[in-house]
Amino acid sequence: MARKAEARIIIHLACTECKERTYTTTKNKKNDPQRLELRKYCPRCRAHTLHREVK
Ligand SMILES: [Zn+2]
Repeated sequence: MARKAEARIIIHLACTECKERTYTTTKNKKNDPQRLELRKYCPRCRAHTLHREVK
């Protein structure tokens, strides 16, 4: 486990509409220093919404 540089970290994606945390993923901190924003399907809104990274 624990590679030298912990560039790849686990993040959660929360729906910006209902604040539900619908996805867990990983990202490379070096490639994405800012918060990730992805359009994904939210099962609660039952639509594609913008999901933002949360810890
Ligand atoms: Zn939602």
